[in-house]
Amino acid sequence: MLVMMSAHASEEEIRAVCRKIEEMGFKAHPIPGAVRTAIGITGNRGPVESAALEAMPGVVDCVPVSKPYKLVSRELKEERTVIDLGDGVQVGGKELAVMAGPCAVESREQALTIAAEVRRTGARLFRGGAYKPRTSPYSFQGLAEEGLKILAEVRSEFGLKIVTEAVDNESLDKVEEYADVIQIGARNMQNFSLLKRAGKARKPILLKRGLSATLDEFLMAAEYILSEGNYEVILCERGVRTFADHTRNTLDLSVVPAVQRLSHLPIVVDPSHGTGRRDKVIPLSRAAVAVGADGLIVEVHHQPEQALSDGYQSLLPADFARLMEEIRQIAALLGRAVTC
Ligand code: PEP
Ligand code: MN
Repeated sequence: MLVMMSAHASEEEIRAVCRKIEEMGFKAHPIPGAVRTAIGITGNRGPVESAALEAMPGVVDCVPVSKPYKLVSRELKEERTVIDLGDGVQVGGKELAVMAGPCAVESREQALTIAAEVRRTGARLFRGGAYKPRTSPYSFQGLAEEGLKILAEVRSEFGLKIVTEAVDNESLDKVEEYADVIQIGARNMQNFSLLKRAGKARKPILLKRGLSATLDEFLMAAEYILSEGNYEVILCERGVRTFADHTRNTLDLSVVPAVQRLSHLPIVVDPSHGTGRRDKVIPLSRAAVAVGADGLIVEVHHQPEQALSDGYQSLLPADFARLMEEIRQIAALLGRAVTC
């Protein structure tokens, strides 16, 4: 159920409706829009008795939500969500958000070298895992908190915003302290206890699509995070499993307009995991921007042949510079921008 408030409703009227919803035993989620506030109601098992709410000052209408996901849906909020990370860095705005960096933070020297390169060519966000979910228990698992400290240094040295992954509730506590955006990886998209913990975090979440997740499952995973009170979720398409074996995954770019039709949340594309091959990252980045993605998350390494993970899909810094140049031209055609 959604309570649509009038464009002229006062703060006090909105608070009174939220109080009433909580008194009824449900949870109220006031979501301000460009014109008016909508208040989502969750926690109800059946229909909500709406007459009492409809009679309250400032309420225009109470509308049932037809989709299983409520808070992520455009029925709740028509205009697109823009996530403000400070210092002029946004995700979902006119400017494309480009997140670049290595798969994993391997050393201070490695992270600072790559950060200098991607900052010089225009990235505003730095990616790099300190906790790595690896298929093999014998593969490099990340530097953990030492890696987070290196990422903090990257931020203070280059002014880059930090995107890094949490793999479980304990690492999320740590990542929340250091990161600007907390990444939840594809393998954890349906780790519901982690999603609930992410919903209590005070930092935006980058939620990657699961390896075989449908659009509904993807949006329901985001709904878990919003339902706990964190409304700042960035969706990320990173490729799904199919029979095709010419790429590591099949990058499903059609999910971008599909998400945008159903949800107000921003969506970025990861062409690195989406293809698994360096030579395909630039072409698919161009396509992602053309299809309307709000940004990219791209793996870059200065010595990919020595990388401890995902070297074969990492761009060299010079390739990344070319990627930025090419997407800038495509973005301009669509009325969007890529700054340096
Ligand atoms: C990553 O971003 O390095 C990563 C492990 O991604 P995914 O969860 O999409 O596989
Ligand atoms: Mn990776």
